[in-house]
Amino acid sequence: MTKKYVYSFHEGNAGMRSLLGGKGANLAEMVKIGLPVPMGFTVTTEACLNYYDEDEKISEDMLSQIFQALDNLEREMGKKLGNNEDPLLVSVRSGAVISMPGMMDTILNLGLNDESVKGLAAKTENERFAYDSYRRFIQMFGNVVMEVEHDVFESIIDSVKQKKKITQDTEMDAEDWQEVINLYEDKIKEVTGREFPQDPKEQLLMSIEAVFKSWNNQRAKVYRRINKIPDDLGTAVNVQIMVFGNKGDDSGTGVAFTRNPSTGENKVYGEFLMNAQGEDVVAGIRTPQSIEQLKDVMPDIYKQFIDICALLEKHYRDMQDIEFTIENGKLFILQTRSGKRTAQAAVKIAVELVNEGLINKEEAILRVPAGQLETLLHRRIDPNAKVEAIAKGLPASPGAASGHVVFDPDEAETIGNEGQKVVLVRTETTPDDIHGIVIAQGVLTSRGGMTSHAAVVARGMGKPCVSGCEAIKIDYEKGEFQVGEIVVKKGDIISIDGSTGEVIVGEVPMIDPELSDEFNQVLKWADEVRTLKVRANADTPHDAQVALEFGAEGIGLCRTEHMFMAPDRLPIVQQMIMSETKEEREKALSKLLPIQQEDFEGIFKVMEGLPVTVRLLDPPLHEFLPNAEDLIVEISELKAKGCSKELEAKQEMLKKVRALSEMNPMLGLRGCRLGLLYPEIYIMQVKAILKAACNLTKRGIKVITEIEIPLVGHELELKTLREIVEETADKVFAEEGTKVHYFIGTMIELPRACLTAEEIANSADFFSFGTNDLTQTTFGFSRDDAEGKILPHYVEQRILSDSPFIVLDRKGVGSLMKMAVEKGRDVKSDLLIGICGEHGGEPSSVEFCHMIGLDFVSCSPFRVPIARLAAAQAAINFAR
Ligand code: PEP
Ligand code: MG
Repeated sequence: MTKKYVYSFHEGNAGMRSLLGGKGANLAEMVKIGLPVPMGFTVTTEACLNYYDEDEKISEDMLSQIFQALDNLEREMGKKLGNNEDPLLVSVRSGAVISMPGMMDTILNLGLNDESVKGLAAKTENERFAYDSYRRFIQMFGNVVMEVEHDVFESIIDSVKQKKKITQDTEMDAEDWQEVINLYEDKIKEVTGREFPQDPKEQLLMSIEAVFKSWNNQRAKVYRRINKIPDDLGTAVNVQIMVFGNKGDDSGTGVAFTRNPSTGENKVYGEFLMNAQGEDVVAGIRTPQSIEQLKDVMPDIYKQFIDICALLEKHYRDMQDIEFTIENGKLFILQTRSGKRTAQAAVKIAVELVNEGLINKEEAILRVPAGQLETLLHRRIDPNAKVEAIAKGLPASPGAASGHVVFDPDEAETIGNEGQKVVLVRTETTPDDIHGIVIAQGVLTSRGGMTSHAAVVARGMGKPCVSGCEAIKIDYEKGEFQVGEIVVKKGDIISIDGSTGEVIVGEVPMIDPELSDEFNQVLKWADEVRTLKVRANADTPHDAQVALEFGAEGIGLCRTEHMFMAPDRLPIVQQMIMSETKEEREKALSKLLPIQQEDFEGIFKVMEGLPVTVRLLDPPLHEFLPNAEDLIVEISELKAKGCSKELEAKQEMLKKVRALSEMNPMLGLRGCRLGLLYPEIYIMQVKAILKAACNLTKRGIKVITEIEIPLVGHELELKTLREIVEETADKVFAEEGTKVHYFIGTMIELPRACLTAEEIANSADFFSFGTNDLTQTTFGFSRDDAEGKILPHYVEQRILSDSPFIVLDRKGVGSLMKMAVEKGRDVKSDLLIGICGEHGGEPSSVEFCHMIGLDFVSCSPFRVPIARLAAAQAAINFAR
C-alpha cells in the first residue's frame, strides 16, 4: 500500500501533530470547528523524511499525491493555480512538530508569473497591488528557492527608487514594480544561470523542496540544538490559498494573543495594520495599531475576532497566539498555536484557567515550566531594555546586578560599606574573598564552573554570579579587565545577568521580583501532589530563614566550612591548621567550639522541628590558607620593609601551604579522610552540634539532627568515624546531663560508595547524594575547570546535551545512584535517601530523583520553589 503523504485541511485534526506538524494540525482542527480558514493541504513530516531518504528527491508517488491535492483544492476554490485570468495563488510554509518560529522558510503569492500577474491586476482592478505581489513572490522565491542573496533584490529596488528620486516603497507605482520585476528576472538568470520558472506547478514543487531543505539550514540546526529539538523529526509543508490583507482599505492583517503574554492579563492583546501583508507587521516599517482600535475601524470584524479568540481558547484550553487577515471585509484565521509567554504570565494564566474551569490543578502544575520560575525569584534585566553583552560566561547564580567594578575583596568591603554598589570581579574566588562577596551586588569570575566556590557561595546567598567567563582578561596590576578591544577599569559600572551569563558595560534597567498570589497558589497545589520532600542547602540562620519562607521542609546540607571562613573565625582556623601537634590543634579547636555551637543553635532554632543535616568538614585544609603566590608577594614586600616578626609568620605559613599542597586536591586530603587523619576536628564539630541540640531541647525546642560524613568510599571509613561520633556523643550527653536523638549518615559522592552501598548502609542511617562530586568522579571531569574549558565544546558538538554539572547525567551518574538506592535499601528498607548536589534544584534532575525513589531533594534556598514544582510535575507524570 502506498503511504499517504498529503492531507487536505479537511482530513486532519489537532491530534495529528507529529504527522502534520503543529501548524498543519491546527489549521485542520480550525477547519473542523468551522472557523474561516483559507483552504489548503499539508505535505507530512514523513514526506520530508522520505525526501531525505531518497537522496533529496520527491518520489513519483509523493508527486502525484501533491498534484491530486492541488487538483482538489482548485476544484474547491473554483480557480486554477496561476490561471491567466483569475489565478489561484498559494503560500508554502514550513510547519514543524515543535514550533521553530522564523527558523525555516516561507514563500507567498506562489502561482504568479508574467501572464497571471495581468489576470490578478484585472481581477482586482489594482495593477499596483498585482505587480507588488509578483515582485514580492520573485524576491522570496529567488532568495529561498534559488538562493540569490537578499541584498541583490534590495539594491535593485534602491536603484529604481534612486532613478525615480523617491524614497518610500509606497511611492512606487505599478510601472515601477514592473521595472523591478524585469530587473529581478534578469538578475536571477545572471546569478543562477536559470530562468525564473514561469510554470506554477514547477514553482510549487521547487518551493516544497526548498522548505524540506530548510529543515537543515544553519539557523534551524542551531535553534534545534539550543532548544533540544531532535534532528530527525522533519518538517511538514503547508500549501494554503493566499488571502490578501493589502487589497485596499477594507483589508488588513494582524497578530494577537488571547491573553497578555507578558503579564497574563485576561485581555486580547495584539496589533494589526490595515492594507498590509503579514510581513509589514513584523518588519516594523509602519507602526501597527493595537487590536482594540480595530473596534473603531471594523466593528463587526472586531466582534467576530474576539468571539473566535474565546472559542479557540476554550477549544484548546490554553492561551492562543493567532494570526489573521482581513480580505475585502472578510476575516480569515491563518494560524493558531499555544502562545509563548513569560513565567509570570504562565503562572497567572494557569491559575485563571483552573478558576475558569478549563483545566484542572494538575494540568495547571504541568503548564508552568519549573525552570522558568527562576526568573520570578530574582531581580532581572527588564526584558524591554536593549542591552548588548560584551561577554558571556556561565549562568552560575541567577538574578541581575549592576555596580562599580572592584577587583579586590577588601576594597569591595570598604567601598560597599560606604554605600556604593559593587560587582566583585576576580579570576576565581577563594574562601578568603568571602567578605567581598557578602558586600557585592554580584560576582564575575573568569575561571571556575557552576560548582565553583563563587557559584556555590553566591547561589547560597541568592546573589547573581557569572563564572567561568573566559573572554574577560583580568589584569589586577593595572586594575582593569579587557574583552577584545574593550577595556573596563576599576570603578566603571558593569551589569551582570547570572541567569544568562551575560556581562554588560554600564547600568541597565532592572525589574524587582514579585511573588504573586497565583505563584503561591500553584506551589500550594504542587505541595498537594508531590511525594518528594524539598529541603534547602543552607549554612546560616539567615539562609535557613529564607529557605523556610520559600517552603523548605528541612536542611539537606549545612556546609560547615562556610562557618570557618567568616573573618572572625578564619584566624583561629588558620592557627589550628598551622599547629604542629595534636594538642596545639585541640587548643585552637576549643576556641572554635563555642562559636560553632552558636552557629548550630541559630540554625536549629530557625528550623525547629524540621530535620537539619550538618556535614562535617569537607574541603582540603589549604583552602583556608592564603595562596602561595599571594604569600610570596607579601613576603617580598615585608622583606623590603624589614618587618621581621610578621615576615617570619608569613614564611611559616608559606611552608605550611607548600606542605599541604597536593597535585589533585579534590581527590586528596578532604572529606572523611580529614576526619580520619585529624579526628579532633570532627570531634569538635560533633560536640558543637550535639551541645547545641541539647541546649535547645532543654529549652523545649525540637531538634532533628543528622550528622553527615562526606566523601566516604569504603564502609570502614564510615564505620570508624561513626564510632568516634558515638563516643563523642556519649561524652557530650554525660556532660550535659541530657540526651538527644541523632542520626549519622553519609554523602554518597564517589562511584565506589555506590558500588558498595550495601556495605556502607550498615553504618549509615541516611544517604545523601553529593552529585557535584559524584559527577566529577564519575566522568573524571574537574568540576572547577571542565565547565569553562571542556563542556561548552561538548555541548556544541552534541557529545553531551547538557553540562552534567547542571542536568544530572541519568545514564552514568544516574545509574550509579539507582544502584546505590537499591543496594542501600536491600540492607535497610527504610533508609532515608536524598540528594544535595546542585542537581537538587534542577527540574529534570528532580524528576529523576523522583523516579528512583529518593525521599528528598535539597537545593539552594532560592531554588526551593522550583524543586517543589518540579517534584509535583514528576509525581503527576510518573506516579510511583
Ligand atoms: C556534592 O559534592 O554534590 C556536594 C553537595 O558537596 P560539595 O559541593 O560541597 O562538594
Ligand atoms: Mg561534595
